[in-house]
Amino acid sequence: MEVYPPKYHLITFGCQMNKNDSERMATLLKNLGFASTDSKEEADLILINTCSVRQSAEDRVFGQIHLFKPLKRANSKLIIGITGCLPGRDRDQAIKKKMGIVDLYFPTDQMSQLPRWIAELRPELVNSVDLVEDYMKLVPDRKTTRQAFVSIQTGCNKFCTYCVVPFSRGLEKNRPLKDILDEIKGLADHGCVEVTLLGQTVNSYRAPDAELFSQNNPYTDHFAKLLWEVNQVKEISRLHFTAPHPLHMTDDIIDAMTLPAHLNFIHLPVQSGDDEVLRRMNRRYTSAQFMEVIKRLKAKIPNLAIGTDIIVGFCGETEEQFQKTVQLFKDADIDISYTAKYSDRSGTAAHRAFADDVSNEEKKRRWEVIQQLMEVSVVKKNQRFVGEVVSVLVERHEAPRITDEMLMMPEKIQETIKNQPGLCYGNSREMKLTRFPGTKELVGQIVNIKITRADMWILEGELV
Ligand code: SF4
Repeated sequence: MEVYPPKYHLITFGCQMNKNDSERMATLLKNLGFASTDSKEEADLILINTCSVRQSAEDRVFGQIHLFKPLKRANSKLIIGITGCLPGRDRDQAIKKKMGIVDLYFPTDQMSQLPRWIAELRPELVNSVDLVEDYMKLVPDRKTTRQAFVSIQTGCNKFCTYCVVPFSRGLEKNRPLKDILDEIKGLADHGCVEVTLLGQTVNSYRAPDAELFSQNNPYTDHFAKLLWEVNQVKEISRLHFTAPHPLHMTDDIIDAMTLPAHLNFIHLPVQSGDDEVLRRMNRRYTSAQFMEVIKRLKAKIPNLAIGTDIIVGFCGETEEQFQKTVQLFKDADIDISYTAKYSDRSGTAAHRAFADDVSNEEKKRRWEVIQQLMEVSVVKKNQRFVGEVVSVLVERHEAPRITDEMLMMPEKIQETIKNQPGLCYGNSREMKLTRFPGTKELVGQIVNIKITRADMWILEGELV
């Protein structure tokens, strides 16, 4: 059977870091002569890049594997691979054994061995087995040219007791400054205007080649220095990072956030507003220390929009302790919270040391309390944009929709509707989703929009 070019089907779960890893995997497979396919039936290789942060994410992987069983029965040569966080934390392969039909099972940092393993299983699919030593040296195969996520660090040293990342991704490893800046300059040369720096605790970045920082770089903190260096790449006019750790929010970093390219938004995970819960989570700060960071941020950047992560129903969390999170949410004047109900993960310290003793109903109730608080607060905060002009990078365009009812209308009216400009969508510098009437030619451009209406999840306006 003719197999060339062989095809791969790649499924990605989880965070931006996983998506960025998948872009690297796509480059590796492309270099190997593979073509991407949306059809799993056509694929010679199916890869799932997994997330292991919550049980529900792992359950979805099992759901996918179940769907692939008939494909494997019909084509025994089909290679099925699992990578990402799940193999990283499943060191004794107990979870793999339950899956049955998996041929390749490797943590992300072993991705560079993929050509060799494919060659061992199906030599006819591989045109060469040139290996790169470090998968972070692979240039991600990105779908968009105007925006890019750039990983500056992998792994984590913090060992929060509920988290699998230090086990699944290993300890913190920082990319050389040279590689990061070469990647960003290369992106800028190809039209990129917005960069998001990625790391598990992105602001703990330490450059292994610190001697390459510019002589006139004014900062001492390495992450602040990196923000300054990226600000010197003049094409990059929108800069952002995720996720910082409150412990490392130095004055240098806060000052570097006032440099021109930086977006007017920070996502700073707090997880809980109660000191005892924070201690059991091993977050290494108190609620007062978190609030002190917020105070310093707001003193420098008064209109900064703030996002956070909160876990409700962590082991032993009482109502009184939960109420402290509610209070902190109000005091910090949070714009958006990604709130999670605590999910017990085997292999973590919390799993070994504490009982997951808050009922699911109570977790759900606490989740709803935070959600409602956020919804009330975000509407109020978004209202302040009405009448203001915001800068938006246009990400997508929606053509005018012709509904079944419209098809009943006279052709002339249908034609008029079809010739409407449609709607453009993009984020403001506060990372607020913004919608306005505009043509598809605006996609990729940075435009000024006068806001006429503010809703919970969207600002609406007109092109200035
Ligand atoms: S800082 Fe904590 S929550 Fe974040 S990746 Fe590291 S261990 Fe996990």
